[in-house]
Amino acid sequence: MDYKPYIRIIENFPKEGIRFKDITTLLKDGNTYKQAIDEIAEYAKQMQIDIIAGPEARGFVIGAPLAYSLGKGFAPVRKEGKLPSEVISADYDLEYGKDRLSMHKDAIQPGQRVLIADDLLATGGTISTTIKLVEELGGVIVGAAFLIELTYLNGRDKMKGIDVFSLVKY
Ligand code: IMP
Repeated sequence: MDYKPYIRIIENFPKEGIRFKDITTLLKDGNTYKQAIDEIAEYAKQMQIDIIAGPEARGFVIGAPLAYSLGKGFAPVRKEGKLPSEVISADYDLEYGKDRLSMHKDAIQPGQRVLIADDLLATGGTISTTIKLVEELGGVIVGAAFLIELTYLNGRDKMKGIDVFSLVKY
């Protein structure tokens, strides 16, 4: 299926020069949203996965329904200060900013096979940090799944040795 007609491009958001891919126009169409999650789930079914990890907030929009569809758990990766129990944290760079991500220390058990999910792969900064946190907890990354990949930003290059899947490429 061609998802591009459902993704709205906003010029110069949140900063001058960024062509923001707005997925809210896809999410509000129930059939298209379901179809997208089902397609990512088909990819994920080929792998042995114990749990899915996704960064807030749009990683939840992809990762949580994916986890539900596969009958697996979901581990939220959050901005610092949001998780109530003991955490590990790491800094990261965004296509347009800087921040810090955290995970609960008991979110992943050592040896668990983890699929990372997010809405969009840009420079790969967010996902590299998520991978770093999961690996610090002893998780084994089996793949990374995205709704959208901005191929011209070469985020994949930051994820050598990891299987990367994306539904829509720009
Ligand atoms: P990266 O860390 O540079 O790969 O950026 C990916 C993260 O930034 C994802 O979590 C996205 O939600 C967000 N992001 C970056 N660019 C866009 C965009 O054009 N549309 C929606 N989200 C974006």
